[in-house]
Amino acid sequence: MTEGETRVTVVGAGIVGLCCAFHLLRSGYRVTLIDRDPQGDRTSHGNAGAVAVAEILPMPAPGIARKIPGFLFDPLGPLSIRLRYLPWLWPYLRRFLAAANPADYKAGTAAMAALLSTAMDDHEALLQTIGMSSLLNRTSGLFVYRSEAGRAAEDAGWALRRELGLDAEPLDRKAIEALEPALGPEAQCGYLTQDWAHYGDPKALCDGLLDYLRRHGVEIVTGEIVRLDGVGLLTADGQHREFDRLVVAAGAWSHRLSAQFGDPLPLETERGYNTTLPNPGVSVNHMTTFAEDQFVMTPMDMGLRIGGAVEFAGLNAPPNYNRSKALLKLAERYLPSLNTQGGAEWMGNRPSTPDSLPVIDRSVRHPNVYYAFGHGHLGLTGSATTGRIIAELVQGRDPGLDLMPFRVSRFN
Ligand SMILES: Cc1cc2nc3c(=O)[nH]c(=O)nc-3n(C[C@H](O)[C@H](O)[C@H](O)COP(=O)(O)OP(=O)(O)OC[C@H]3O[C@@H](n4cnc5c(N)ncnc54)[C@H](O)[C@@H]3O)c2cc1C
Repeated sequence: MTEGETRVTVVGAGIVGLCCAFHLLRSGYRVTLIDRDPQGDRTSHGNAGAVAVAEILPMPAPGIARKIPGFLFDPLGPLSIRLRYLPWLWPYLRRFLAAANPADYKAGTAAMAALLSTAMDDHEALLQTIGMSSLLNRTSGLFVYRSEAGRAAEDAGWALRRELGLDAEPLDRKAIEALEPALGPEAQCGYLTQDWAHYGDPKALCDGLLDYLRRHGVEIVTGEIVRLDGVGLLTADGQHREFDRLVVAAGAWSHRLSAQFGDPLPLETERGYNTTLPNPGVSVNHMTTFAEDQFVMTPMDMGLRIGGAVEFAGLNAPPNYNRSKALLKLAERYLPSLNTQGGAEWMGNRPSTPDSLPVIDRSVRHPNVYYAFGHGHLGLTGSATTGRIIAELVQGRDPGLDLMPFRVSRFN
């Protein structure tokens, strides 16, 4: 069967599914993209917009278990767990804690560095093809700390980044003031990395890609998939569709589909929050990470977006926008002139694996089924690369990267 005769269905019109559909189309396949709401305001639309190539350190860091109780009791802290959800979270949490050892941490960091080493080029190439290069701001990424002690606590992570070839220039208070005059004295020192860029509007990228796919013959289908087997799928409204190859890129819901192919895994949603301030009253040039308080701000086309936080509460609990408000309070400490009025609050579901590495693989039992999900905090960053790799796997080509760290069976 030639590429042109092979029907590939991609499940999920988030940024990862869109990039998979894009690369499969470019490789000559007949592509169908299916989502319960292809235009909907999903995680890929409202995130912080970073192509964060330097952000390669896995979440389960050695010593994190000692920090978790402190985070949980801090109302402005970066992590919250709804107690009622704990029994469901446990399969993920126990693997997360098991992964928080020096050897796994180092191996995970190296795997992410290898995966993301082409991320910037993959974004640039994709943007050029769809004629939307201006969406990406190639400014560097700024990390700030409240004190030298706070920065020193993360020195090992920065050294590891440097070892893996990533850029990191140390900054003192004076240098920060020169780069970002809006940052008050709370930002004492930091790093600047060139391995960073950000989108002015991640939704514009999703909309642009969807439009490109539609114009180039990809069939866009609205439907919620409820059942799957190796040759076909069934949607909630009764559509039955057949495929030759299937790509599961359904974000935080992907495990519900992979389980139907005999590939269960403890995927979780790390819910994250932000507020976009249309009139922030400050001018900001760089996407900035407030490292000790674990939140970020991004100068977006529509305002200043301030967000972050990790909340474990499952896929169905209503959002708790007190998390967004807590992040604004933290931001006011760093930006004395910040105007927090009139902001738009948002929540998204990061598809998260216990070791922070995505799943990029084929099904163990169904070799015509491929997986592209679990990118956690880095789904936008890794999307263009993952899409390229999936198209190469479907073609039977060697992607030139060791995919063992990303296999679906690693949690069994
Ligand atoms: C606050 C916050 C800030 C973030 N900032 C960044 C950042 O700066 N940089 C970065 O790289 N990443 C960031 N992320 C992470 C990033 O947004 C996600 O990793 C990424 O959007 C995930 O994309 P996805 O395509 O895998 O999933 P999604 O965008 O969730 O898309 C999955 C799609 O699958 C569909 N779907 C699911 N199940 C079914 C089904 N059964 N049938 C049909 N359709 C289905 C859904 O409707 C959805 O449209 C952030 C996340 C949050 C929450």
